[in-house]
Amino acid sequence: MIVEQIWTGNDWRNFNYLIACPDTGEALAIDPLDHEKCLLHAQDQGWDITQVLNTHEHHDHIGGNAAMIDATGAELLAHKNARDRIVGIDRPLSAGDVIKVGSTVELEALDTPGHTMSHVCLLSHTDQQALFCGDTLFNAGAGNCHHGGHPNELYMTFSSQLATLPDDTLVYPGHDYIISNLQFTLSREPGNTDAEALRDDLLDQDPGNALVTTIGLEKAVNTFFRLRHPEVIEKLREDFPDLPAEPDEKTVFLKLREIRNNW
Ligand SMILES: [Zn+2]
Ligand SMILES: [Zn+2]
Repeated sequence: MIVEQIWTGNDWRNFNYLIACPDTGEALAIDPLDHEKCLLHAQDQGWDITQVLNTHEHHDHIGGNAAMIDATGAELLAHKNARDRIVGIDRPLSAGDVIKVGSTVELEALDTPGHTMSHVCLLSHTDQQALFCGDTLFNAGAGNCHHGGHPNELYMTFSSQLATLPDDTLVYPGHDYIISNLQFTLSREPGNTDAEALRDDLLDQDPGNALVTTIGLEKAVNTFFRLRHPEVIEKLREDFPDLPAEPDEKTVFLKLREIRNNW
């Protein structure tokens, strides 16, 4: 499996992706908002884009569909419940569906509600798994729930699907927000030396050549995976004095999401 992370350089800081089969040159484009950059890269590599997948229905993820499909004739895949919000879905996806790219690549669709209620992530069936997570999980952060999502479902997705992935799973999110997310982690957990060192390392990172994190690294630096950490809880209790000394993970997640909304 070949993965190309394409930095759009736009104001929303989107990452687009091409996933290609090295044997056949067939490729799948994830959320190709910058269809020109995606097409150019595919042409350079001699790849044939046969599928477009939308992780969810927001404009900065589907805005390149029409031009990309016009240029390639690719099939469009998205969550089955996005049918009335994304025009022209050829293949509606449910949890567990397998998407083949060429002869060597298999990607599994995960049903991951929270950022919106019709959001899919893709998990590669490779030795070292890779997760393409749209706006559900960001490097060092979590998606918001302002435009059609629900924090309860986002928590369930994190706890029951993302946190259970192997530590070496590669994380490919839909946006580059890593610096501000690390700053948020540090605001909740000033003693997190891993997050501090990573923030210092990445301050002048070129997003065109971005660090690819893993689930293991996320568990060290992403406050939304650190729901039992004493410093996280202690600081939350300063903001919410009614919080018990040993709050459940869901309560901690929801409070962190609430604070992040206005941070
Ligand atoms: Zn979104
Ligand atoms: Zn987005």
